Amino acid sequence: MITVENLSFRYSATSFGLRVPAFHLQDRERVAIVGPSGSGKTTLLNLIAGILTPEAGRIDVAGTDVATLSEVERRRFRASTIGFVFQDFALLDYLSARQNILYPYRITPALTLNAAARERAEALAAACGIGDKLDRHPTALSQGEQQRVAICRALVTQPKLILSDEATGNLDPESKARILDLLFEQASEAGAAVLAVTHDHELLPRFERVLDFAQFRQGADA
Ligand code: ADP
Ligand code: MG
Repeated sequence: MITVENLSFRYSATSFGLRVPAFHLQDRERVAIVGPSGSGKTTLLNLIAGILTPEAGRIDVAGTDVATLSEVERRRFRASTIGFVFQDFALLDYLSARQNILYPYRITPALTLNAAARERAEALAAACGIGDKLDRHPTALSQGEQQRVAICRALVTQPKLILSDEATGNLDPESKARILDLLFEQASEAGAAVLAVTHDHELLPRFERVLDFAQFRQGADA
């Protein structure tokens, strides 16, 4: 599902550099990423999703070298192939929760917003415990509820790859376990692979592999 080779990246504004010699994620595999804050976990997810472009190296996702796509192509590829739960949720305040969840359909010609998609959105929201809040806008939702909206949006298109950036960070322990169940259940149904950054060490045994990110960090002056 993912092949990363000889990847290097550096933010132009800061001295932060990331170097990943090799990383592979198999189809349907579930891998957790752990590592200190600021070690580049979010940066790697953004590179895999084609939101950032590498300085050098190859990032192949589902058979496509994302770095070779134009910006429009990358956005479409992302929306049709990847479900991304962003660390900061990235919800649109001018849209209701329902519209946020269905947003990938608005921006992706390859996806058709039909009755089945609407039903999936409702079912996911109900399973996440926000079924009665779908007409609210993000500003009228708690952090935990916004996080659930972001999770529903990532799952609704049944993507082949789910990237999750601390998706359970704002939830109570019971909800964390339940949301991870839902995420894994949806991934199984869609045959999706899961790459999840998490600080919840009690959730780690549920992943097939844990990648410790400290190893990829380049010194600030490297
Ligand atoms: P993590 O997710 O592991 O906490 P990040 O990938 O968010 O780490 O950030 C890694 C480093 O890159 C941090 O030092 C952070 O300050 C820096 N960084 C993150 N985003 C940007 C940006 N847009 N521009 C410049 N530096 C950034
Ligand atoms: Mg992060």
